[in-house]
Amino acid sequence: MLSEASGSIAGAGALLTILRDGQARTRAELVQLTGLARSTLAQRLDALISQQWIVPTEEAISSGGRPAVAFTFNRSARVVLAADLGATHARVAVTDLSTEVLAERAAELPIDRGPEPTLTWLQRTFQEMLSETGHSLGEVCGVGVGLPGPVEHSSGRPVNPPIMPGWDGFPVPEWLGEHLGVPVLVDNDVNIMALGEHWAARPEADHLIFVKIGTGIGCGIISDRRLHRGAQGAAGDIGHIRVASGLDTVCRCGNVGCLEAVAGGAAMAARLRADGVEAADSRDVIRLARSGNTRAVQLIRQAGRELGDVLASIVNFFNPSTIVIGGDIAEGGEQVLAGLREVIYSRSLPLATQHLSITASELGDRAGVIGAAVMVIDHVLSPDTVDQAVTRA
Ligand SMILES: [Zn+2]
Repeated sequence: MLSEASGSIAGAGALLTILRDGQARTRAELVQLTGLARSTLAQRLDALISQQWIVPTEEAISSGGRPAVAFTFNRSARVVLAADLGATHARVAVTDLSTEVLAERAAELPIDRGPEPTLTWLQRTFQEMLSETGHSLGEVCGVGVGLPGPVEHSSGRPVNPPIMPGWDGFPVPEWLGEHLGVPVLVDNDVNIMALGEHWAARPEADHLIFVKIGTGIGCGIISDRRLHRGAQGAAGDIGHIRVASGLDTVCRCGNVGCLEAVAGGAAMAARLRADGVEAADSRDVIRLARSGNTRAVQLIRQAGRELGDVLASIVNFFNPSTIVIGGDIAEGGEQVLAGLREVIYSRSLPLATQHLSITASELGDRAGVIGAAVMVIDHVLSPDTVDQAVTRA
């Protein structure tokens, strides 16, 4: 049974949620906002201060002209380790609790090397970056990792990831947790990109679809301001929806006619090679398009139309307010968006497209690491987790 004191501090998490917007508030303002008794408020503030989640400041001036103590969220209380592992390259960051990037690194890291070499590299890189920023593992509140394949949400384990040999069922959270000694959250890379873009660039969008066009194609879904993962964590895997033009094309998933087998970066690179143009991956496709290769430009425009065909149905089904296009191929910007808009606006219902915005990602290749940090921060600072921490203390 909770004692009276722990019962009254158990609402500290909800109080922290109010203060997380970064605005400083006095006791009087907080009493007004929460309707709490002053004594209860004081206990909850003390509990949050003892965990360093908030700090008192004396900058606010009360109406009588006397300085009043105000409380603000302490974004430097802990740091977060974030990683976005793609098919061929990785981006790693250390952030504070407001997702501000304190250190960042990008590296070539083929995911098909397998889990142990990849995670060993990641663990070492995290530790190097922590010491670069003058932090220690003791200050880390959690690790967020995005992987380029389906991840079972409840366990954080990859499930039959087509481009990740050796990773099927690998206990990524346990492995990293054992080596780093902090909680580890793992999700699909497109889900974390959707989280990052929503948090940092489009917080006003309640219903958002983030589409990544890289080697493959996938999407992350923000529904009613929350990430929608589906029953097993497989929601948004639009790359394997069948498209009419792909009927004779075999996909890496084993099916025939998948969207990504026609419009993904790897598929476009393969078509360029078939035409005698050197192109290894999605970044080569973009590089060629930028340097004026008309075949590459054509392929990207066509990929935009193919994707638009699938998204037109999704717009009718889900009615998003915003579609954001990210991933390597999104750097083709208008070339992709032109084809995409053309099909969506002609094929979706007028009511669904009336206020629909279709844009390129603002965060670009940072969306993944920002989203991985958001995933960790939302977990660590959720009212339940904070209440558990303060009552334990
Ligand atoms: Zn497929």
